Amino acid sequence: MPVLLKKELGVVENSYYEATVTRPPAQPSLTQRLQADVCVVGGGYAGLSAALELAERGYSVVLLEAQRVGWGASGRNGGQVIVGFGSDGEEAIERQFGLQDARRAWDISVDAIRLLQRRIARYGIGCEWRTGYLSLATKPRKAQELRRWMDRVQSTYDYPLQWVDNGALRQWVDSARFHSAVFDAGSGHLHPLKYCLGLAAAARGAGARIFENSPVFVVERGRRPVVRTAQGECACDFVVLAGNVYLGEYGDAIAPEVCSRIMPVGTYMIATERMAPQRAAALIPSRCAASDTNFILDYFRLSDDHRLLFGGGDSYTGTTPRNLIGQIRRSMMGVFPQLKDLEVAHAWGGFVDITMNMAPHFGRLGANVYFVQGFSGHGLALSGMAGLMVAEAIAGQAERFDLLARIRHLPFPGGALMRTPALVLGMWYYRLRDAL
Ligand SMILES: Cc1cc2nc3c(=O)[nH]c(=O)nc-3n(C[C@H](O)[C@H](O)[C@H](O)COP(=O)(O)OP(=O)(O)OC[C@H]3O[C@@H](n4cnc5c(N)ncnc54)[C@H](O)[C@@H]3O)c2cc1C
Repeated sequence: MPVLLKKELGVVENSYYEATVTRPPAQPSLTQRLQADVCVVGGGYAGLSAALELAERGYSVVLLEAQRVGWGASGRNGGQVIVGFGSDGEEAIERQFGLQDARRAWDISVDAIRLLQRRIARYGIGCEWRTGYLSLATKPRKAQELRRWMDRVQSTYDYPLQWVDNGALRQWVDSARFHSAVFDAGSGHLHPLKYCLGLAAAARGAGARIFENSPVFVVERGRRPVVRTAQGECACDFVVLAGNVYLGEYGDAIAPEVCSRIMPVGTYMIATERMAPQRAAALIPSRCAASDTNFILDYFRLSDDHRLLFGGGDSYTGTTPRNLIGQIRRSMMGVFPQLKDLEVAHAWGGFVDITMNMAPHFGRLGANVYFVQGFSGHGLALSGMAGLMVAEAIAGQAERFDLLARIRHLPFPGGALMRTPALVLGMWYYRLRDAL
């Protein structure tokens, strides 16, 4: 069994999101030889979005998912739909591109949220979408950094943000843990798995053929690539690799040059039991999604059925922490000690795909194999946009895709074997920095 999947056993099972959806019957697995214009590998937001956009443009599309649609990060995440790129990503883009192109890249991240909202409306996806997001500083030094970030984003990208000072903060989040915050009215939150299943239904409706329980082991590159599963294959003109951190787990030969540039970082979530609606509303009166600005961050929001969904506790070793519930619950109590009587009803986790510089990693292998990955904690909106941009590129309009594909990425030091110890060392440094 692939290594990451083994590490995940047990943490996927009790997800709040899986418990609150009704999945349609499984799609068949691929057992035949098919022809298609495009074969997409991976049924998360990125792959489904590419399949949807391509099918709507008249391409014949086959999507192959190793497990069930939304089984990966797209069905398990914090639900926070956030503008911009991973923590250091914006600066990496500014350094590499200069301001004019960095502005174009930022606008793509803003468009990503608009695209998500358009899709929710157009396909009638009931996924509990709400606007409003808070970045929270835990101490004065973090507040100064946050203020500088806000000023830079407002002046460089002309993106509206609002400062919330210490005196006003409790009207937004009822916690003494935070010093101040930035409010972003353009970002928001939703039920990630409902959104993902809605995208899958839209892609099927547009004519994409989706196969589940169909892991791809080999992609034979060439003028007309062939994508192989254990019992079937698909010959196509274009391949889209959207397998996230799992891609290399199924076959070393699929795209090793791509897999070494992202690192799977474990992050874990709990959902409390339900609260009375007034109690939940008093906890986060703004109903915003929220996360602190620490490198190893806590993130939280209310669900529509009045639970607190709380995440954090990144694991850079890839192994699920022992006493997972106890650990995340302790972090939650650090923020909301008033919840000490509440039981934890669900706990789950998964891997975030981070790159060295926290900017997304897009590109082509040869002329006809596209890949999108490395969303570095900002994938909810951006991965959907990535799917659209791949479709645009295949259809001959590659400006937006090529802009982000220009971002240079280094592989993690030590390659697939040594990248984990190297990163664990790096994490101790960041842990120390957060604590100062
Ligand atoms: C716990 C958690 C919290 C997060 N919180 C947030 C958040 O609040 N906001 C945010 O923006 N981002 C968040 N993220 C990250 C975000 O969820 C991801 O960036 C995004 O979902 C990536 O989408 P994707 O389609 O690239 O990958 P995935 O959703 O992981 O989909 C990839 C799919 O490809 C399939 N696959 C892989 N290899 C193969 C193969 N060889 N053959 C067939 N199928 C294959 C996998 O089974 C999987 O279903 C979080 C992630 C986690 C795990």
